[in-house]
Amino acid sequence: MSQHSGKAGGLIDPHAFDVFEFARSGRQAAGAVRVSQLPRMLNEVPADAPDRDTLFTWQAEGATQPELQDDGTEAAQPYLRLALHGAAWLECQRCLAPYEQSFDIEAAYRLVASEEEAEEFPLDEDELEVIVGSRQFDLVALIEEELLLSLPLVPKHDVCPQVHESLVSGAAGEHASDLSEDESESDSEDPTSEVAGEGDAGKPNPFAALEALKRGGGEDEGGKKH
Ligand SMILES: [Zn+2]
Repeated sequence: MSQHSGKAGGLIDPHAFDVFEFARSGRQAAGAVRVSQLPRMLNEVPADAPDRDTLFTWQAEGATQPELQDDGTEAAQPYLRLALHGAAWLECQRCLAPYEQSFDIEAAYRLVASEEEAEEFPLDEDELEVIVGSRQFDLVALIEEELLLSLPLVPKHDVCPQVHESLVSGAAGEHASDLSEDESESDSEDPTSEVAGEGDAGKPNPFAALEALKRGGGEDEGGKKH
């Protein structure tokens, strides 16, 4: 750190650097932030998480792209690209246990000089965000914003580790869920019926009704074309 290597572009302070210069000279930087540096993100991490201070790595890259101006000329405009990878522990809304949510974010921003300019900016590209740059730009704040925006709407395990049937159905129904349409003999000791307990088939759960609604909703629209 005693010597500057001009080629490497030098280090930036991710809390305060000139993002316009960063863009115009096409610089790159990379680093890491911990959840403990992101207070609003830390709020989302449950107290009983195995690790409340996980790490995110980031890469930032500045660039310019020619853009058509109001006066018909083209001018190079500043852009920032951000890649963000890591994981944070969140509370599963299904079983209320903590689980590790991974984040893989790639974003591109058009940098503008003021809020006014940002509001006037014609948004014709969904994937491009417009942000207000600064000579004291706080990349860590942007990183936190992106993470918060990327939080799942309903955080949950893909498969919860320990959801008990009794919690879902409200009944310890070993036999309750075995009814099917052509089962006339209810007293059968058929060994195959043991398997049915694990299936989704007759399990009364809160989503079953919703699923049924969805299926019922799809009416035959192709029948009457007139
Ligand atoms: Zn869960």
